[in-house]
Amino acid sequence: MKAKAKKQIKQPKPIKSPLYIRPSWDEYFLNIMKMVGGRATCDRGRSGCVIVKNKHILTTGYVGSPIGTSHCDEDGHEMHEVIHEDGTKSKHCIRTIHAEQNAIVQAARMGIALEGSTMYCNMLPCYVCAKMIINAGIKRVVANKDYHASEKSKKIFKEAGIQCELIHQEIENYSNM
Ligand SMILES: [Zn+2]
Ligand SMILES: [Zn+2]
Repeated sequence: MKAKAKKQIKQPKPIKSPLYIRPSWDEYFLNIMKMVGGRATCDRGRSGCVIVKNKHILTTGYVGSPIGTSHCDEDGHEMHEVIHEDGTKSKHCIRTIHAEQNAIVQAARMGIALEGSTMYCNMLPCYVCAKMIINAGIKRVVANKDYHASEKSKKIFKEAGIQCELIHQEIENYSNM
């Protein structure tokens, strides 16, 4: 007489997550950059920045006023109007240190060399940041979006041989530009 076949308990199949797409290294650091920007204290652009070398984070930075001084979110912006050569005007908040500058300054404070590193940022860096990036030895800049006044930065990056990549061609918008 045949032994009764044991009732097989159906094991659930391991989930292969067909919908899950593993982020690339650029996506990984851009996602971290966005999270870092959440700490920013100026609502004109809660930008973040991450500086990376050999897939490791060296420093991070976000938009904020100097340590120990009042924040835009608490005391309002320090607005500054710039009239350009062609007569157009643009408005800037000058209370804060840009995310890119803070990431570079953090390296200075901690004694970390940025030579040959890659910078991930929210917008294409402004002209001042672009010049600091060049002299800090950063070789590649990956920006999530374009910046409304990025022409000079793009030009100087090209001239200095900095690899500059835009993830989205659109220009980041914020109020009272
Ligand atoms: Zn501000
Ligand atoms: Zn800047």
